[in-house]
Amino acid sequence: MNDKKLVMPAAFLGHGSPMNAVEQNRYTEAWHRLGARVPRPRAILCISAHWYVNETLVTAMAQPKTIHDFYGFPRGLYEVEYPAPGAPQVAGEIAEVVKPAAVNLDTQSWGLDHGTWSLLVHAFPAADVPVLQLSIDATQPMEYHVALGSRLAPLRERGIMIIASGNVVHNLKCIDWRRPDAAFDWSRRFDEAAREIMVSNPAQVLRLQDHADFANAAPSPDHLIPLLYLAGLAEAAEVSADVLVSGYALGSLSMTAYTLGDLAGGSA
Ligand code: ZN
Repeated sequence: MNDKKLVMPAAFLGHGSPMNAVEQNRYTEAWHRLGARVPRPRAILCISAHWYVNETLVTAMAQPKTIHDFYGFPRGLYEVEYPAPGAPQVAGEIAEVVKPAAVNLDTQSWGLDHGTWSLLVHAFPAADVPVLQLSIDATQPMEYHVALGSRLAPLRERGIMIIASGNVVHNLKCIDWRRPDAAFDWSRRFDEAAREIMVSNPAQVLRLQDHADFANAAPSPDHLIPLLYLAGLAEAAEVSADVLVSGYALGSLSMTAYTLGDLAGGSA
């Protein structure tokens, strides 16, 4: 036994296609192992690329609904439910801890989108840990998201597992179905540059904006921004991230995932 304070690990997971929710592959297996290894969280806070709105909100309903926010997929995917409870009290705590940044409570509009549940059906299949989502404010500059990530850091000592969900490389216009597990050269270059920063000095994450392949990798920044939250958490803890799993899908998606801290909850 030791008397060290429990610090929940945090993660950025590359979610890829919604089909990962109903498939088994080395990414879904890595998510499952992660969930099995960490101490049971008091709550999970997911920062999903798919709640990209004009303010920062946190879900504050007692029972968030499962949102099927995609079109044209097989029927079975629309039947997936992730009935985890919410945690209105934790939502209030989050709004408090980030001050003076403004995080407003959402009691009506959202729930759990596939950026959250496609991961959690694997990581926490019992759906018995309360889950909250934090929206991404699309009107804010990139710096804001790194700073807000840092402000979330105290939650890790309160038993809250923060999971950012996006993709380091995400360009749907360039998807190539003939390359299910491969990358375009530019995709690989950008993913490797991100990895170099995340495992050495995550505080430098915004340098990715100057990368020659940035425009291809993040034509819209929504899927990259969740990584900025993990970088902010890393900066607050003065640590670098570890690669959980890495790889590519469909040419223009990176599936790379990172964790922060001792997965058993021993340190920042
Ligand atoms: Zn997505």
